[in-house]
Amino acid sequence: MVRSLSLVVLAGAAVSLTSARGANAWGDEGHRIVGRIALSLLTPQARRQVDALLAADTDTLTAPDFVARTTWADHWRDSDRNTTKIRYTATQQRHFVDIELTAPDLAQACAGSPLPAGSPASIELAQDCVLDKVRQFAAELADQETAGPERILALKYLLHFTSDLHQPLHAADNHDGGGNDVPQPNS
Ligand SMILES: [Zn+2]
Repeated sequence: MVRSLSLVVLAGAAVSLTSARGANAWGDEGHRIVGRIALSLLTPQARRQVDALLAADTDTLTAPDFVARTTWADHWRDSDRNTTKIRYTATQQRHFVDIELTAPDLAQACAGSPLPAGSPASIELAQDCVLDKVRQFAAELADQETAGPERILALKYLLHFTSDLHQPLHAADNHDGGGNDVPQPNS
C-alpha cells in the first residue's frame, strides 16, 4: 500500500507546469493534465486502492473521479473566498512555498515545520506550506491507521499539491508575491 500509493505522489512530481498562483482558469486544466498522467502510471493494485478511497468520498465540490479530484483543493480553498474566507484563510498558504531566489532557505520558507502531536495534517496551522503538506499527507495516506475521512483528504490534497509544488511560481519568490506582482507583458 505504501509503495503503490506513493506512485501517486511520484507520478505527479514527474510533471512540471508553469502557472501563476492566481491563475485559476489555467489551474484546473494544468491539474487535470497532471492527473491524467499520474493515472496512466498507476499500477492496477494502486488504481484499485485509490479508486476505493475516492468511491468512499461523498464531497460534491468536484466530480468524484481521480482526474477531477486533482482540482478539489483549489475549489475548496476558493469556495468561500468572496464570503466568509474561513476555508480560504485556513488553507490558502498550503498551496505554495516562498523560497527566496536570492537567498534560498528551506527552513525559513517553512519546510520541516512539525505537526502538533496527535494532530491530523488537515488542521490549520499558522505556518503552512506545500512542502510540509506533501510530506504530512503522504505519511497519512500510507498509514492504514489513519481515519477514513482524513485519508481521503490526504489523497485529494496530494493529487493537487504534487503539481502545485512543481509549478515554478508556487515554489519561488523574488520579492514579488510569488510572481503575482510581476506585470504581464502586453500581448
Ligand atoms: Zn493549488
